[in-house]
Amino acid sequence: MSETVERHEFGAEVGRLLDLVVHALYSDREIFLRELVANAADAMDRRRFEALTDAASVLPPDAKVRIVPDKAARTLTITDAGLGMSKQDLAQNLGTIARSGTRAFSQSLNETRPAETKTGEDGQDPRPSLIGQFGVGFYSAFMVADRVSVTSRRAGAEEAWTWASEGQGSYTLERAERAEPGTDIVLHLKADADEYLEPYRLDHVVRKWADFITVPIALVQDGK
Ligand code: ADP
Ligand code: MG
Repeated sequence: MSETVERHEFGAEVGRLLDLVVHALYSDREIFLRELVANAADAMDRRRFEALTDAASVLPPDAKVRIVPDKAARTLTITDAGLGMSKQDLAQNLGTIARSGTRAFSQSLNETRPAETKTGEDGQDPRPSLIGQFGVGFYSAFMVADRVSVTSRRAGAEEAWTWASEGQGSYTLERAERAEPGTDIVLHLKADADEYLEPYRLDHVVRKWADFITVPIALVQDGK
């Protein structure tokens, strides 16, 4: 590994949470896409808000969340023109459980024993709804990916950084290039997650909840 790549350990809680999310929620893993698009939309809203007082944050008029499957590379990328993250933001937001909501989620998953939670009152497994309730979102990427890299440039900053992890205890940070502010989440898909390279499958998942997302979403066909 080159000297410019920094390796950091996840907090113990992140490791446990990752394990829970990847295993406990496996049956409903398509929700990763909702979580990542919601984060992208949120980042665009935050950039719009910051632009009210900071001209450096003004969003391009055609800003969209782009979902880009690449069959040759076996990656699925979610790109936004949102507020972006600094190096410190990446370490803080994706490397620790700083947010009380996520801690509550982790506790509630710990407390629900699988035998008791097979079905909720409506006959559905109640665990996937916990993920939305507590917003553990980002780590759900590891349900479908064995490696996730996040390249981001904070609006108003010149430099970009890449956070990368295999979801196994540590992550790396290194300098990157990005022409504009925003974030690319690159999912290196697991061998059994090929379905998320298929535009019709992605389209089907997106349509289920797209009405709740207030920014435009573009499904880009194989890199074009
Ligand atoms: P939540 O959305 O409930 O805060 P997540 O796990 O989904 O929790 O995301 C953690 C944090 O990472 C977010 O609060 C945000 O600060 C940051 N983040 C995630 N995705 C993005 C993104 N695309 N652009 C900017 N920040 C992001
Ligand atoms: Mg989220």
